[in-house]
Amino acid sequence: MHNMNNLNDLKDKVCVITGGGGVIGASLATGLAGVGIVTVILDINEEAAQKVATTVQEETGTKSFGMKANVLDKASLVAVLQQITDEAGQIDFLINGAGGNSPQATTQLEELTEDDLDNLEKSFFGLEMEGFQKVFDLNFMGTLLPTMVFAKQMVQRQKGVILNISSMNAYKPLTKIPAYSAAKASINNFTEWLAVHFAKTGVRVNAIAPGFFLTNQNRFLLLDEATGALTSRGKKIIASTPMGAFGEPADITGTALYLLSDMSHFITGICIPVDGGYSAYGGV
Ligand code: NAD
Repeated sequence: MHNMNNLNDLKDKVCVITGGGGVIGASLATGLAGVGIVTVILDINEEAAQKVATTVQEETGTKSFGMKANVLDKASLVAVLQQITDEAGQIDFLINGAGGNSPQATTQLEELTEDDLDNLEKSFFGLEMEGFQKVFDLNFMGTLLPTMVFAKQMVQRQKGVILNISSMNAYKPLTKIPAYSAAKASINNFTEWLAVHFAKTGVRVNAIAPGFFLTNQNRFLLLDEATGALTSRGKKIIASTPMGAFGEPADITGTALYLLSDMSHFITGICIPVDGGYSAYGGV
């Protein structure tokens, strides 16, 4: 019989969080450490990773390690796997948190109209392939590669949970950000694919789709740089979120704990929106 009514099974488990130096990763790390999960904060920004690990350990008293790794470089992931196993132990959980959008993969126009036919570079046609590829790869390959490197020992031990971080873009693409949208849609598809592939191994694969949270990777789209006021896009998002606010990073913790624990023992291949009702709202 699996533990179905508390989070006690999570104590002393080891969770790797990629992009753990970022806003959502850091918040997840604190929440997980609060129930006794040992966290390994991986980030391409080593200083950010170590800072988060130190704060998590100070705030919760649970061990946390900060390490440098690039989710797009398999050799860097293989190297850090050895360090993780030596310092923190065998990996029980992987949260693929590294991701985000970039201005280089963002069109200036939301829609192409007749008025813009002399200005096509502001539309889809002006997207730089390099920026597009960077964002697509960070969000998709940056989930695939760490999973390939870190899930092997889970499969061999016949237990473990992988959590991918999707987005509202996965359900309906947002204007201006086609690379991020396509990549996050591919995360949902890959979550289902891998869940089926691993289903008989005891390793579960699920995703969380955060709604709108104000963080570094989207601040330039949602707030006016000079005044700090909401951009028209920011206003649109609030109007499209029935609960009428941006999410707080800590709002994601409960869903993550549920999906990591045995309480969700029979759940694999799903994506849970944490979005204040955004994905349920038709706009009218
Ligand atoms: P963030 O920018 O604060 O954090 C992302 C972290 O990833 C950064 O610390 C960055 O250094 C790290 N990173 C970037 N490239 C890396 C690489 N190659 N290897 C390792 N680490 C790398 O962003 P966030 O908002 O905390 O985003 C976390 C996840 O949540 C992302 O997948 C993002 O797409 C997703 N998400 C965010 C929102 C939101 O509203 N903020 C909404 C939906 C989904």
